[in-house]
Amino acid sequence: MAGKRKNNPAGSTNSYRGDVLRVLGALKVATADQIQRIGAPHLSFRHADKEPASKRKQARTASHTGALSDMRKHGLSENGGSTETGDSLRNLTLKGLQAASYGGAKVHDFRLWSRIYPATGREGYVPLAFVFTGKTEAQRASRMRRLEEAARRYFAGEPYSGRASGITAVDYHQAVPVVVTELERITADAEGAAGKVWRRLGREEDEWQTLAEALDNPDGDRLYAVQWKEARRRQEEREAAAREAKRPVCTRCGTKFTDERWQSIRQSSWRSEGDELCGPCLDEHHERVRAEKAARRLAEEAAVREAAEAEKKNRGLFRRRS
Ligand SMILES: [Zn+2]
Repeated sequence: MAGKRKNNPAGSTNSYRGDVLRVLGALKVATADQIQRIGAPHLSFRHADKEPASKRKQARTASHTGALSDMRKHGLSENGGSTETGDSLRNLTLKGLQAASYGGAKVHDFRLWSRIYPATGREGYVPLAFVFTGKTEAQRASRMRRLEEAARRYFAGEPYSGRASGITAVDYHQAVPVVVTELERITADAEGAAGKVWRRLGREEDEWQTLAEALDNPDGDRLYAVQWKEARRRQEEREAAAREAKRPVCTRCGTKFTDERWQSIRQSSWRSEGDELCGPCLDEHHERVRAEKAARRLAEEAAVREAAEAEKKNRGLFRRRS
């Protein structure tokens, strides 16, 4: 820890220095205040109760100010003038820009809009709206079609990958929803832009919807959840049917084994007598074996007794004769 502290005397963490790299990598110039708002907006809420405003700002920007100070020491960032309100403007040095592009994937992945705009509540990126106007209706339609063709790879979702059959839902998480309308259509509609004047690119050409309908993804995550559940149910049914097909049948009475009986013959690792019988037939079988054994024992005992009697009689006769 001491070593780390020595490297970064302001005590900044990787995460805050990463914010600075990402934000300055994207914006080129920003104040600590802007870096915090974009890089770690949650800090604004954490310090929302501090009074006065200057103290609030100091508290929420402290971590990034520290990160900037440590990065200046490492020659990654520098101060470049100040705003009208007296905030220092920061930018990356050449070394800092290299560090930012070294984490190129990260910079690319840094979605500015998701830090600035509230969540849309829908999967995918922030939507784009295009309002066409002028020329003839046919020309406007043709321009909308051209946009649709050109932008397809951005607005079209993808099939959910590696899925069970029967899933038609579309994964819109990496898609930019694009809606189009015409000024002429909006002005002609009694409800204006609130009317059914929007078309979501990728949908039917004559499917005009309200903005909320056009932006909604009824064939996205919601449908996926339903279809996935359904696919899982079918899978379970298939497994149950396959299992049922393997269920043994009693060789004596033809009854299917109960789960319990089936389990009991599977548990023993060796085959034993009666494995082909259902529970009641097996009980009956054991009962008969027991009864036969008992009868045999009785017969044997009777035979022994008779032999003893005969022996006694013979001895008596012999004595009398002698
Ligand atoms: Zn049976």
